[in-house]
Amino acid sequence: MFIPDWNHPALFFLALVLGGQLLESLALLLDSHNLRKPLPAEMVQWLDAGGWEKTCAYTRARHRLTLLESWLGLLLLVVFWFAGGFNGLNRWVMDWQLGSLFSGVLYIGLLMGALYVVGLPFTLYGTFAIEERFGFNRTTWKTFVADQFKMLLLAVLLGGGILAAILVAFERAGEWAWLYGWVGLTLFSLVLQWVIPRWILPLFNRFSPLADGEPRRAILAYTHSIQFPVGHIFEMDGSRRSSKANAFVSGFGNNRRIALFDTLIQQHTVPELVAVLAHEVGHSRRWHLPKMLLLGVVHTGILFYLLSFFLAWSGLYQGFFMEGMPIYAGLLFFSIVIGPIDLLVGPFFKALSRRFEYEADRFAVETAPEPGALITALKALARENAAHLMPHPFYVFLHHSHPPLLERVAAMEAQLSFVNDCRGPGTVTVPGGVQGQSPCM
Ligand SMILES: [Zn+2]
Repeated sequence: MFIPDWNHPALFFLALVLGGQLLESLALLLDSHNLRKPLPAEMVQWLDAGGWEKTCAYTRARHRLTLLESWLGLLLLVVFWFAGGFNGLNRWVMDWQLGSLFSGVLYIGLLMGALYVVGLPFTLYGTFAIEERFGFNRTTWKTFVADQFKMLLLAVLLGGGILAAILVAFERAGEWAWLYGWVGLTLFSLVLQWVIPRWILPLFNRFSPLADGEPRRAILAYTHSIQFPVGHIFEMDGSRRSSKANAFVSGFGNNRRIALFDTLIQQHTVPELVAVLAHEVGHSRRWHLPKMLLLGVVHTGILFYLLSFFLAWSGLYQGFFMEGMPIYAGLLFFSIVIGPIDLLVGPFFKALSRRFEYEADRFAVETAPEPGALITALKALARENAAHLMPHPFYVFLHHSHPPLLERVAAMEAQLSFVNDCRGPGTVTVPGGVQGQSPCM
């Protein structure tokens, strides 16, 4: 039987992983606790007590599931780790004598496969028990199975390809491997920006051109008024999976594509639709996607540079009770160890994203034909999607890419009272910019 030697790196990594998990759990518990606060009077007007009860029960159910899944995942990881599983699996893989590249893909592939199997019951419960109970689920079993199959296929093709390329770089390219890996992954993710809306999203949803009618005409009148060329306006069958609504803009210049969920079109008035779209246009006009991509590239570069140091450090392998120093195992261990450290970087990106949301809201209020329509649209969306109205600041700090609804509404109302004082008749012109696939609302 394997007896762990409790070496220093092992204890340090264990403390790191446990610390990250405790921090995440604390945020979830605080967020659930905040549901006990009484609803502010301004909210009671448009959200009846029953609606708030539903939101509370829904948020608690989702948080409980996340807690259970993450603690079970951690328990399984620690048991496998301290029972010498990483080394045992490596011995088994080595017996096949596939060469380092295929051994690496098989080693990581098997562990990722196990992770998928552990997560599957939680995905099933989330979709068919929780979302179903609260009336959001529209996913049939057939769609679910087809989705899982397609996602696995993409993971094997794209994930396996990227993994193989990184392994080759670190095995052959010596000290500059991190640079090759970084540049390669950056170019690949830029290509994906073009490929995703065209080839990958249509694998999961149907995009049909928005039929001529009031919504289409209103949208075109708006995009024309702000000189925002649009190639295609699509209606996406979001209702295939959920009753929750959304919209997004992707592409560049005349290739720009707008996608509105069918659920959004059904549940909202035309001025609200235009206002939601104006928010998405705001993301494009303010260069939010290129800015995020650029920061993401810097972040990836730092991670690759760190990776090159970790891979050469014997403590990394010792901490996971490995006999040798296979690069593929080092890559996996790095991903486990860096997760909790990266938890400290995440909030910076989230804070920036929340700032971008305020900017996009601001743009919508400035340019939409009915400046107040985004407020009513967001309130309705929050009610329909049972969004937590008073999330805990620590949870927001760690996880929220969007500001809490009340704060967004307050910012827009303040702006509206200012606009009403200053805005004369006629359109507001805004400088143009490069557009890409913007974050969702
Ligand atoms: Zn947004």
